Amino acid sequence: MHQTIGTCRWIYNKFIEINQIRYENKLKYMNGYNFSKWLNNEFIPNNPDKLWIKESASKAVKQSIMNAHRAYQDAFKKQKGFPKFKKKQSTGSYYLIGNIHCERHRIKLPKLGWIRLKEKGYIPNCNIKSTTVSKEFDRYYVSVLVDERPKSIFKSLQTEGIGLDLGLKDTLFTPNGVCIKDLRKNKRLIILNKSLKRQQRKLSRKKKKSNNWFKQLLKVQRLYRKIKHIKQDIKRKSILSIVQKNPQYITIENLNIKGLTKNRNLSNAFQQVGLGYIVEWLKQKCYEYGIELRQVNRFYPSSQLCSQCNHRQKMPLHKRIYKCEQCGFEIDRDINASINLKQALDYTVIV
Ligand SMILES: [Zn+2]
Repeated sequence: MHQTIGTCRWIYNKFIEINQIRYENKLKYMNGYNFSKWLNNEFIPNNPDKLWIKESASKAVKQSIMNAHRAYQDAFKKQKGFPKFKKKQSTGSYYLIGNIHCERHRIKLPKLGWIRLKEKGYIPNCNIKSTTVSKEFDRYYVSVLVDERPKSIFKSLQTEGIGLDLGLKDTLFTPNGVCIKDLRKNKRLIILNKSLKRQQRKLSRKKKKSNNWFKQLLKVQRLYRKIKHIKQDIKRKSILSIVQKNPQYITIENLNIKGLTKNRNLSNAFQQVGLGYIVEWLKQKCYEYGIELRQVNRFYPSSQLCSQCNHRQKMPLHKRIYKCEQCGFEIDRDINASINLKQALDYTVIV
């Protein structure tokens, strides 16, 4: 699997390299289909040292070519920059289309044969349409797309709509109170973060790329992964508890997610745990549960309005309590915002 991921990355980069050279020499773009033909009929026969390409599942290689081709098509259409080379990372994946056999405790992958699964009976063993094999540090994951009727979901009686205020510190507020508390105050995460810092310090003291350094790196990566999974779990469970109440609708703010995730402190693999993740997961669950998901206008002043009398006043970030200058109403800043979202009339339905 590790080798196939590497081969797919190499092929992806080769596609870009070839097209860069062609571009510089004012030659026409070589599309995915022609590249595939060239690779198999010319390049590999003339370069016996590249025979290892053939050791990986041909479907995975083909898919990697198509990914690169698609990236170029996007660049042409949207006049974006050309695709960039993929760097060697401790994470990666490859994609397979077609029927794959799976049993309760094992899955059969092309070129690899039967592979034992850690979580038994988890993957449905019929009608697998496509498969993604991914690597995250020292663990491998397989995910499958199956053609199956959705399971019917138990629905409780419909309750009134709610507003969700997405705080900046991984918090989530509803008109009834806090739904996700500040994750930085979670005791388990505090302990894990402390030990992460300690292990990172140890890593920085080791000679780079030495055996001990790699061992220590793995320790750091495992801790990262653990923290990420705990955060994900908290978020998923909170969102589930919201949709299971079967509200008439859910209204969220319009966040400029791109602007928020520009924070480069986290590596790519962990960015998905942020606010964008909450929104994506919420979309998914609203779709499954048939709940209308609304998003207010970008300039809707959810934190400045009084949820009782609609009076508008400035609310600097440090003010945690909303105290209305007009009617004297007092309420927590974020809960006030979530009530305003619930009451908002100017919105777009996104699910
Ligand atoms: Zn008021």
